[in-house]
Amino acid sequence: MSNGVVIVTGASRGIGEAIARELAAAGYRLALVARSAEKLQELAAELGADQDVLAFPGDISEFDDVQRIVKEVHEKFGEIFGLVNNAGMTRDGLLMRMSPENWQAPIDINLNGTFYFTRAVAPIMMRARNGRIINISSVIGLTGNAGQANYAASKAGIIALTKSVAKELGSRGVTSNAVAPGFIATDMTADLPEKVQAEMLAQIPLKRLGEGKDVAGVVKFLLSPEASYITGQTLVVDGGMIA
Ligand code: NAP
Repeated sequence: MSNGVVIVTGASRGIGEAIARELAAAGYRLALVARSAEKLQELAAELGADQDVLAFPGDISEFDDVQRIVKEVHEKFGEIFGLVNNAGMTRDGLLMRMSPENWQAPIDINLNGTFYFTRAVAPIMMRARNGRIINISSVIGLTGNAGQANYAASKAGIIALTKSVAKELGSRGVTSNAVAPGFIATDMTADLPEKVQAEMLAQIPLKRLGEGKDVAGVVKFLLSPEASYITGQTLVVDGGMIA
């Protein structure tokens, strides 16, 4: 299936861009999704020589946008083999000061966006009796974190969604797995104060921050024939941080 079609959300930078690069190099045809149309188009042009990689700009927290994107991908490419729900965001703050709006933002994008895309591709994958859904959660969804109650809840929700989808769609040949990265060097983590970054590093037995390609390699494995009997699982990619 290495020439199958894979949708990658949040592909405009960070881990999503690394996943897009890894999968393009492995021969997958790609539908790249994010809100920054220009960045996506630049990446699509760089990776896809002959229309094998296309940009589909949109907001994953809008159900209508997601329905439109999946319809367009289906029309342009045909069958959809893989979905990588990677787009995500943080809105950190202590619980006692967290407004309902700040609680809701990561739920809308991280959790609802993952549900919307899964909901939209499921009928296509079920009809084909073939499909791989890979959701990027986080170690924070497993451990919780002070100052990240909203993000942690969204990422734990993704793990429960992943397992439920594995149980619902397994009989139709569709697998559903999550990847839980630890501390990966991207825009999302670059803003953290140096002291916090040093503290995080001290907790990582492998003594380095993760890179996008550390996560991308695991996503590639989950799309491969070797992973066809794995479903409902969460693979932690964190240099041993929560081991
Ligand atoms: P990032 O550098 O901030 O990139 C986030 C990506 O998501 C961007 O491409 C962004 O594109 C897209 N995005 C955000 N909101 C969107 C929306 N409403 N609609 C469409 N696209 C949206 O983050 P990252 O570090 O690569 O993280 C990628 C994923 O890994 C996230 O789910 C994150 O929670 C997870 N993760 C990251 C780490 C880490 O240490 N970095 C650790 C664990 C888990 P636009 O802004 O162009 O829309």
